[in-house]
Amino acid sequence: MNGEEFKASRHAVIPQAEAQAPRYQAQVDLHLHTTASDGRLAPQELVRLVAQRGLKVVAITDHDSTAGLAEARAEAALHPGLTLVPGVELSTDIPSSEVHLLGYFVDEESQEFQQLLEHFRHGREVRARRMVEKLNELGIQIAWERVVELAGGGAIGRPHIAQAMVERGYVTYPQDAFARYIGRNGPAYVEREKLTPEEAVPLLIRHGGLPVLAHPIESGNGEPLLTALKQIGLVGVEVYYGHYTPEQVELLLGLANKLDLVPCGGSDYHALGTPGEVEPGMVGPPLEVAHRLLALAGGRRRQVRH
Ligand SMILES: [Zn+2]
Ligand SMILES: [Zn+2]
Repeated sequence: MNGEEFKASRHAVIPQAEAQAPRYQAQVDLHLHTTASDGRLAPQELVRLVAQRGLKVVAITDHDSTAGLAEARAEAALHPGLTLVPGVELSTDIPSSEVHLLGYFVDEESQEFQQLLEHFRHGREVRARRMVEKLNELGIQIAWERVVELAGGGAIGRPHIAQAMVERGYVTYPQDAFARYIGRNGPAYVEREKLTPEEAVPLLIRHGGLPVLAHPIESGNGEPLLTALKQIGLVGVEVYYGHYTPEQVELLLGLANKLDLVPCGGSDYHALGTPGEVEPGMVGPPLEVAHRLLALAGGRRRQVRH
């Protein structure tokens, strides 16, 4: 069954009761967002949810922010079977598309790293503001103040603009806003200040992070990009990701093994409530992958100490 058929079957063929009670079998989710960026659940709520679903290892990876980690850590401490991996997600650009990098175990205490994140968040705000202006010029009357409110003090992102457009009825679902207006080729899209993946990988490593390439299919350019980034310290790539089909997962797993990259992954959950949204527990790498990542982090920490 491919992804589309699966979605269709969930909504049309499977009886309602079953559709409302999907099974959560994954034990690991290394890609989750909270209100510290553009997720809708507070770190505490998210950690409670993953604990409830029996996940064993989860990573919080907010965009340009580690602000949700302290709260998440405090809640995770209340669930003995759960290990929380601190993370962050950075957005970078290559000529043809956008490339996201996850950084696990980054040093949140580093002032230099926090200043960099602050710089990226400021860039996001400037850019989001310009996108709202462009939308306004196109006759789409959403207010900048509302977008800020929707971000709730977290890193402002395009999903907040999309949400404001949904609220005002300009689009039905957030993804329509991306497809028609604020996606890379949309009329209200604004470029970001350039950060390349070749810059972001060493930046993460310098601050104690284990860099992993997020959703590689969306980035296009698979093997050449992975090969280049592996040479400068990339440790993993997302394989078990969101809505990827079994065929895609198999292909990516082959690539990860060939290049000796840890096959990571997760739901990329934002709690947006869109139909077919992939939730924590629905997809993720096997437990031994998480253990590989934890071992790498331990090794790196020892290297730093001695
Ligand atoms: Zn991403
Ligand atoms: Zn993400």
